[in-house]
Amino acid sequence: LAEAVQMRRSRRAPDRFAAPGIRRGGSRPYDVVIAGAGFAGSIMAERLAEGSNKRVLVVDKRPHVAGNAYDLHDKAGVLIHQYGPHIFHTNSEQVVDYLSRFTAWRPYEHRVLAKVGEKLLPMPINRTTLNGLYNLNLQSDEDAAAFLAAQAEPVEDIRTSRDVVVNAVGRHLYETFFQGYTRKQWGLDPSELDKSVTSRVPTRTSLDDRYFTDTFQAMPKEGFTRMFERMLDHPNIDLALGTDFHDLKAGDLAPLTIYTGPIDAFFGHRFGPLPYRSLQFRHETLDQRRFQEVAVVNYPAQEVPFTRVTEYKYLTGQVHDRTSITYEYPSAVGDPYYPIPRPENAALFKRYEALALQRDDVIFLGRLGTYRYYNMDQVVGQALATYRRLAERMAARTAA
Ligand code: FAD
Ligand code: UDP
Repeated sequence: LAEAVQMRRSRRAPDRFAAPGIRRGGSRPYDVVIAGAGFAGSIMAERLAEGSNKRVLVVDKRPHVAGNAYDLHDKAGVLIHQYGPHIFHTNSEQVVDYLSRFTAWRPYEHRVLAKVGEKLLPMPINRTTLNGLYNLNLQSDEDAAAFLAAQAEPVEDIRTSRDVVVNAVGRHLYETFFQGYTRKQWGLDPSELDKSVTSRVPTRTSLDDRYFTDTFQAMPKEGFTRMFERMLDHPNIDLALGTDFHDLKAGDLAPLTIYTGPIDAFFGHRFGPLPYRSLQFRHETLDQRRFQEVAVVNYPAQEVPFTRVTEYKYLTGQVHDRTSITYEYPSAVGDPYYPIPRPENAALFKRYEALALQRDDVIFLGRLGTYRYYNMDQVVGQALATYRRLAERMAARTAA
């Protein structure tokens, strides 16, 4: 499909599509070049094209749009997420309103179980988790709160991902659900990571077993890729897939660049590489309708090499005789998926950010461009706010 989009563009506007790297008569063929066709890049492209009538070239080195949210039908015809499970959730009405221009939605509330020994227990930890793990009969929120208060080991200065969990639920629950998973996922002990990482997962005293409590939880009805295709389908947008931004002479193509790849790569890693965590995905299709009880099962035990297994039919609602699943194996090498939140990395990012701030011809955006552990909706919010500021700047310049 992505190829078809590209072909359609090249048929429609062969002059401009052929333009990358070629300066035409001294005037530049585009107003903006955008590196990356994920949420950050695609939203900026759509807004600039539709909202400000700018001519935009979007390049992505991958052969498809949608960035890490890319989904596709596998050989068996099951809709899967190539780069691991992406579940959309947000509290922002603005974000929902914007994305709803390009997709309808299928309501979906995410549920996760953690495999502990032979038991499958709700994650985040809730009352059912406590009753199941310890063979208890906690009847109320108050019972569970009292139990957790007795387990908790107060930490005075909560800084790390270990502190925040031990402080809330004590060492045993920390070791059971967080320590091994985090060591695998990040290649670091939780005590070496900012508290923001494990703080993403709350602790509950209720029976609520949803992974997220956001006001809006739903999946794009026809998938993420289809949503991106609609977003980028605009006469002012040209798309060059399989194209590395660093192979272009961006300054010859447009006066402004929006860069959503890793910020350290943009500056030739001049202060050394910013650490990112990667994953290897093992996708499988099984000759059975169902594989597991919920969409995602987490494996916190350190002896198990993968962190979680996702069964996509729960996310998509697809009906199919077979089912497709993905195992995630954390890895130091591979595509950069996660910025690693810890003080020394934040300090290194600041040095790159200082370089970025000196440039008025480039805007850095997105999870890799701003080195932030953002969910999809946060990247949408960041891109919409960045566009608004940019549009004001452009309007002021036109008026002057
Ligand atoms: P990306 O999607 O990474 O897009 C950046 C694009 O830039 C990529 O396509 C890349 O190929 C391209 N690029 C980079 N360098 C170059 C270059 N030199 N030239 C050309 N192109 C380049 N968020 C949620 O809200 N819910 C979830 O359940 C969820 N699950 C996730 C699971 C996993 C395994 C991962 C890794 C992330 C998950 N996220 C989730 C986060 C979500 O993926 C991101 O918030 C979002 O995709 C970030 O969008 P982006 O545009 O910033 O970056
Ligand atoms: N985490 C954990 N055990 C779990 C789930 C999460 O230790 O069962 C920790 C782990 O460090 C993980 C972080 O909490 O990286 C954030 O979890 P989340 O599910 O938000 O991770 P993501 O979906 O972004 O990979």
